[in-house]
Formats: sequence, structure tokens, C-alpha cells
Amino acid sequence: MNLIGHDAILEQFKTALGRGRLASSFLFTGPQGVGKRRFANHLAQSVFCGETRPEQLQPCGVCPSCQQVNAFTHPDLHIIEKPTDKRDIPIDLLIGERDHRMREGLCHDIAMKPTLGGRKVAIIDDADFLNEEGANCLLKTLEEPPASSILILISTSPLRQLPTIRSRCQLIRFLPLSTLQVVEVLNSLDLTHPPEDLEKAANYSNGSVKTALDWLDQDLHDFRDTLFAQLEAKDVTRDNFCHVLQKFIESAGTEASDRRKRLHRVLELSIEFYQAVMVWSADIAETEIADPTPIMHAAGWCRDPELAANCLQTCFNAQAALNANAHIPTLIDGWMIELGKVARGEVQVQDTFSFP
Ligand SMILES: [Zn+2]
Repeated sequence: MNLIGHDAILEQFKTALGRGRLASSFLFTGPQGVGKRRFANHLAQSVFCGETRPEQLQPCGVCPSCQQVNAFTHPDLHIIEKPTDKRDIPIDLLIGERDHRMREGLCHDIAMKPTLGGRKVAIIDDADFLNEEGANCLLKTLEEPPASSILILISTSPLRQLPTIRSRCQLIRFLPLSTLQVVEVLNSLDLTHPPEDLEKAANYSNGSVKTALDWLDQDLHDFRDTLFAQLEAKDVTRDNFCHVLQKFIESAGTEASDRRKRLHRVLELSIEFYQAVMVWSADIAETEIADPTPIMHAAGWCRDPELAANCLQTCFNAQAALNANAHIPTLIDGWMIELGKVARGEVQVQDTFSFP
């Protein structure tokens, strides 16, 4: 898997590896879908590759070590991420299950001698979802990093980490990709879409491959217009929309994780809409926005940034409830009813979501 973009970060790592001065703990931050995890895998592969030197940061991709990294079976590479059905990263993944505390888990594994005599690399994806207990478990590893180990936390923002974690990691900020780079990544994914669709998706992606892929999800794409028209009308529950939304979420599949993912996207789209209202209210030129669709709908709302901010908060509250594993149908009904009231200015927005 080739690395696309992030040249300055690549140079930074080449220099550090070449001088033998690589830090042991990193916090990779940046928007979703710009390649943070891909970069972490690339770094791991470069460190383990049997055919190239680490400081080249150009792993061969075919030697046994490179293949093991691709297959997630390399004995010195340890990766954890938030399970889709959990609200945060369970501490078992960090320090082992109750009966095997400190004898299993990522903190234990990274402290072991490298199996192949080189380095140990640990990657914590979804580090936004480290809870306080989990973060505290990590502190000891960060304070006394095992020799020759590299620990990478992947997060959307440094603000999502506790100061104790932030201060012990070298911060690496990933910026959005260029449109051309997004096209390049999409081309490497063996998608069946025609090239003009890939270009259009990249144009509207804000530099995120994830956003581009969502664009290519035809169902979601079609639903976006329906959703925006509904939000524009303010009376968001009209025409039995709660039911329409429930059906749309159910059509994502029978697995709860698929439905959860789709509702996440619907909430993100709603956030996009209210942000567009705020942009519209602030008279920012339309030409600065890659995708005019939300602005077009926002123009039909009203110039009331405060009301839009309240609606935004309602969507953030629903996001928090979803992350906290709320029952999906209940959440949809509750969010819709609340959003309708807030959009019509009938109630003050709350800081948290209250279930009906
Ligand atoms: Zn290799």
C-alpha cells in the first residue's frame, strides 16, 4: 500500500530515523480519512522490512515482514482500536482481562523483547475513545517507554486527549489531502465507479478519503438531498420523517454496527447542514465552498446563526448518545422531536441529550 501525501511528515521521520533519534511516543492528529492510520502502518512496515533500511521509509511490500504487517500478523506489531459495539476502548485491550491484568494487553506486549530482534511498534487507533482509566493505564508506558519501542496514538484532535497524554507524545499534525491526492487514493482502491465519479467525490471530499467514499455510497448520497430538504423545512418531523429515517437506518443491514455507522453519517450530514446555515448567515462567498448543495438548502432556512448553533448542539448531543451506545430507534425519535422543537425556537437546547 503506497503512501500518498504528507511529504513533510515523511521527511521529518526520515531525518529522525536516519539520525537514530526517533521519539518513542507519537500522537497523530488530523481529520478522519486523511491517512493517519495508513502512515502508521507504513512506518511500521518500514521499521520491520527485511529488504530496505528504516530511514528510507520505502518498505519493499513483499518480504515476509512486510507481508506480515499487511496481514496484521507481525509478532512485533500490536494494534488496538475501539470495538464497534463499545463506547470506548476497553482497558482489557491495554492491560489484559481481569484475571490476567498486566500479563496481557498492549502495554504488556510492547514491553516484551522484540520477537525478531528489532523494534516493537504499537498503534492505538480511535484514541479519541480512550477513557480516563485507559489513559491512566497508558501513562506508565509513556513515562518509561520500553527500549526501541514506538507507540502511536491516532486521534482527530489533540484536544481529545488528556493533557497528561498530550505532554508525553510528540504531536504530528496531518492536514487534509489535496483533491488530486484523494483521486490517487481512490484509484488505488480498485473501485468500480467511473473516473468522473471518483473526481467528483474527491472534489467534494474536503481532503478526506472517508468523505469521498461516503459520496460514492449511492444510498447515502440520495438520502442526503431528502435529509437537507427536511432540515430546511424546520418542521423536521413532518411527513412521518422519523419513520423514513428509521427505515433508512435499518436498510444499512441487520448488524447493529452497520446501522450505527449509518446513523453516524446522517448526524454528520445534519451537522454539515447547520454549519452551512452558519456560513450562509455570515455571508461567506459561496465560491469558497466546494459542494454548494448544503448552502443551497441553508439559504432556504433563515439567517439565524444562534438558532443554527442550537440545532448543531442538538446533533452533537445525539452523537454523544450514539457513542454511548444508545438504543438506535429510541435515539432517532428523541433526536428528531428535540431537533424540531429547537429549530422552531420552542425550547432551549440542553447540554446533553435527554431520552424521551
Ligand atoms: Zn519488506
